[in-house]
Amino acid sequence: MASVEVRGVRKSFGAFPVLHGIDLMIEPGDFTVIVGPSGCGKSTLLRLIAGLEDASGGDIVIDGDVVNNVAPGGRDIAMVFQNYALYPHMTAAQNMAFGLENTRVPKDEIRRRVAAAAETLRIQPLLDRKPREMSGGQRQRVAIGRAIVRDPKVFLFDEPLSNLDAALRVQMRIELAKLHHQLKSTMIYVTHDQVEAMTMADRIVVMNEGRMEQAGRPLELYHAPRNTFVAGFIGSPK
Ligand code: ADP
Ligand code: MG
Repeated sequence: MASVEVRGVRKSFGAFPVLHGIDLMIEPGDFTVIVGPSGCGKSTLLRLIAGLEDASGGDIVIDGDVVNNVAPGGRDIAMVFQNYALYPHMTAAQNMAFGLENTRVPKDEIRRRVAAAAETLRIQPLLDRKPREMSGGQRQRVAIGRAIVRDPKVFLFDEPLSNLDAALRVQMRIELAKLHHQLKSTMIYVTHDQVEAMTMADRIVVMNEGRMEQAGRPLELYHAPRNTFVAGFIGSPK
């Protein structure tokens, strides 16, 4: 059974269509990268999977259940945003724990998970700092930590590295790959960066103008692009 399935999903904002019918199957444990130019609908698709937007048509299926009417908190998913979306008045530890505070997870289990995530991400020294006392890279680690402590089946990343400098971006790619290897969760990662897609993905989904152009293994897309768009975007020169 697919971990996440997107069935004929359409989305319009007012009269303006943004997604024209997306079909996608994401296997459990895969690191899927959705890549495409700015404005093609990547964030919208991710927000629909997370439940932050309602589709205009079609179904979002998680672990075999149609979740169209399930609120974000009821989906076993955590999302990491480009702009980190941390609470400025809370410390790193409080930001990481916040999403679990009104759940059935006991207090000491929350503390244990925050400590474990901080160790994985090497941010133990930052736990008492507020976002303004951290660098961009450190904030992004806290944002990833906040997702990890929820222990979700599915992680969604929306261009999480695009505000970081080039060297840090390369380092974080390696760390995210390690994290995926360690957690073995399903991860869906959105980027407009072809290099990120080629280096990180088990499977790449290429989008353009609200449509899916092609999905496959990186080398498959590189050697056998289905059309000139995919060829120009990530394919080998022909
Ligand atoms: P991407 O993440 O690939 O850059 P988005 O999903 O953010 O693209 O946006 C796709 C299109 O939908 C863009 O034309 C954008 O302007 C439009 N759009 C996104 N969110 C909204 C919204 N809340 N209201 C109106 N238009 C939106
Ligand atoms: Mg976007």
